[in-house]
Amino acid sequence: MKTIPSFVDVLIVGAGPTGLTLACDLARRNVDHRIIERSTLYNVASRAKGIQPRSLEVVDDLEAVRYIIDTGIVDLPVRYYTADGRSMDKPAITVAASAELETPYRDPVWIAQFDVEKALRDRYAVLGGQVELGAEALGLVQDLDGVTVTVNTPQGEEQIRARYVVGADGGKSNIRKFIHLPLVGETHDHERWYLGDVRLEGLDREHIHIWTSPEGMVGVTPLPKSDIWQLQATIPAEIEEPEKPSLEVYQAMFDRRAGAGRVRLTDASWLSIYRINVRMVEHYSKCRVFLAGDAAHVHSPAGGQGMNTGMQDAYNLGWKLAAVIRGADTALLDTYDEERRPVAQAVLEDSTNKMGGIVGTATEGGALSQSLSTISDDLTSGLLISYRSSSLTRPTARTNAIRSFPGERAPNATGLQGIGFAGSVFDLLRGPHWTLLAFAKCTDPSLENLANDELHVHCILPSDVEGAEGIIDTAGNAYRIYDVASEELVLIRPDGYIALRTFIEDTASILHYLNSIYSTN
Ligand SMILES: Cc1cc2nc3c(=O)[nH]c(=O)nc-3n(C[C@H](O)[C@H](O)[C@H](O)COP(=O)(O)OP(=O)(O)OC[C@H]3O[C@@H](n4cnc5c(N)ncnc54)[C@H](O)[C@@H]3O)c2cc1C
Repeated sequence: MKTIPSFVDVLIVGAGPTGLTLACDLARRNVDHRIIERSTLYNVASRAKGIQPRSLEVVDDLEAVRYIIDTGIVDLPVRYYTADGRSMDKPAITVAASAELETPYRDPVWIAQFDVEKALRDRYAVLGGQVELGAEALGLVQDLDGVTVTVNTPQGEEQIRARYVVGADGGKSNIRKFIHLPLVGETHDHERWYLGDVRLEGLDREHIHIWTSPEGMVGVTPLPKSDIWQLQATIPAEIEEPEKPSLEVYQAMFDRRAGAGRVRLTDASWLSIYRINVRMVEHYSKCRVFLAGDAAHVHSPAGGQGMNTGMQDAYNLGWKLAAVIRGADTALLDTYDEERRPVAQAVLEDSTNKMGGIVGTATEGGALSQSLSTISDDLTSGLLISYRSSSLTRPTARTNAIRSFPGERAPNATGLQGIGFAGSVFDLLRGPHWTLLAFAKCTDPSLENLANDELHVHCILPSDVEGAEGIIDTAGNAYRIYDVASEELVLIRPDGYIALRTFIEDTASILHYLNSIYSTN
């Protein structure tokens, strides 16, 4: 056992999608950190099988999106069957986000969680990081200066002293228990599902296949770029003690619900019973220990929100931890709970409503297809999440603005062209910095003086301006989407949300705002 603790600024506990997103963000910000994972092997269970538009934007910013786009698929129609063998084809249950949300990623992408994790792990490796496998947090004590975590590693017990700890250790989080934050809410004892990753014979992989029967539904979803299917089946409410999951139990259930001999299950790499919990913590942190992802909130998978919400928790927390470690006021960390807890609250409500519809229609094909057709929408895309009432958001001085308000996600706009640059607003935002979009000619020297590594300043000019330095908005998209009426400054946070908008002369507001965050403790 090592008795002398090793020191680190941030210790991340858990290498699921939440922990890995945070690890990538901290690594690209050169924050001293470690990420430990109890399992000795990487996760092979599919669990989440869709990544939402806002999370795609996040992984784009982290430069981990390519593998996800190349591996996942967008169009996955559904084939519904009745017990007598008739089938009915329906379009995919995921729908594209509305065009006016202005994203390069309107479509949710079907992809197994283990592939999202692989994309993040690969990116993390490029950034020089590595998950410490087989390392389990056993307990922690914290004081005013830091947190000491006892970790069981393959080499023995280790004490890790961290300035901050992030529990990204899933729904059964021990970190949450160590800091005595209960998961408040309810367990839906009678909403249970058989889950599994199986291989099978007898079905084409171009559809999700769903059978309804008096006993309940069973569905299988092909996981892209693999021969694995995720199986989901309702367990009837009246069954007190469901049979233990096994390939045989699943085959028998399939035969009863889909008809004997239809589908032959050949192999399973993950089998589980899932009981729906709708719970969250009442606070996302205690002193120096933060919770993120399933450690902070659990809910039904309807609407495909769990993994996505966790990744976005991490993305909200990453830049704030980095700033505070470099000397920003620790009050910045309070805005993590302030901004993210209402998001989880809304997800809990929406996913519970959607799951109610699915469970209530699981025995009847037409009704089930109707309820599944409404589970994907602009809300589940994550693009509508905003921090308009956050203490980090400054009200706009303009009274007649119609869109792109402070607190909202900064939308994309294509068609920008400058010297040596042709791209979009998102190309300007990509990276760990703040961004100031100056919708004006950059003749004011105070604008130039604002720019540094942490704050990138870009002057965006209308297409009819000639002979001025800056980026030309060739199609007028940026001016239209950002609703720029006269010369304006738009300050965008490192996580892609608009912090404030002000008139072009008002560079003092920008400085004042940044100083209010980055002033030393
Ligand atoms: C059937 C199903 C379908 C789903 N579909 C979707 C979907 O379509 N979209 C979606 O967004 N979400 C979906 N989800 C939810 C999603 O799987 C979870 O929300 C997601 O896994 C949460 O990620 P996380 O990183 O917070 O936690 P986890 O993925 O649970 O990761 C936590 C990690 O911490 C490790 N750990 C635990 N304790 C310790 C410790 N003491 N020390 C070190 N390591 C520890 C664990 O081994 C684990 O690797 C679905 C879930 C299920 C079950």
